[in-house]
Amino acid sequence: MLLHKTPIIAQWLYPDLVWKRSSEEKVIYLTFDDGPIPVVTPWVLKTLEEFNAKATFFCVGENVFKHPEIFRELIQSGHAVGNHTYHHLNGWETDATEYLKDFLKCEEELRKFNQHGRLFRPPYGKITRKQAKQLSSRQIIMWDVLSGDFSDKLKPKTVLEKSIRYSRAGSIIVFHDSLKAFENLQFTLPRYLEHFQSKGFTFKAL
Ligand SMILES: [Zn+2]
Repeated sequence: MLLHKTPIIAQWLYPDLVWKRSSEEKVIYLTFDDGPIPVVTPWVLKTLEEFNAKATFFCVGENVFKHPEIFRELIQSGHAVGNHTYHHLNGWETDATEYLKDFLKCEEELRKFNQHGRLFRPPYGKITRKQAKQLSSRQIIMWDVLSGDFSDKLKPKTVLEKSIRYSRAGSIIVFHDSLKAFENLQFTLPRYLEHFQSKGFTFKAL
């Protein structure tokens, strides 16, 4: 089963990780994982611009290496970027030394564009305590709302409805600028932005 809302227990077990922000302001933090890639990432950028929305992109180092021009466009559009490892590693299946090495390789790629490694999101949300400790100088950004856009079992309409239902002021929501998610994303993202914009929300980078 896909959990759209992060269980409170997870937030309680890992209090050092960031799950959501304070909810005094009507702000939603959009995040996009796994890019940058052709077609999908440029489409996301265009859509965000239409709604004057800023977001945070957790980039896979390998994709930054392959598509520097898309990455450059992304940072020039005023969005924030974070590290998502170089090879999209699963922390639960990777030892801590290897994991850190891959993190640093991604950081090296980001630094070529003068981006530092302030923000990190573990692929699949899977990170061990030891790995998290090694990265304690960074902000590890999780989420409180998972759109489920990557799931081929979910219809676009369901992805949209659940994303709207679980989002609150201060929410950090996960989308993906990946080919797998594109069909769901194309339906969901503009409608999601429209819904919350009409309710007076703004969308900011972390
Ligand atoms: Zn990912």
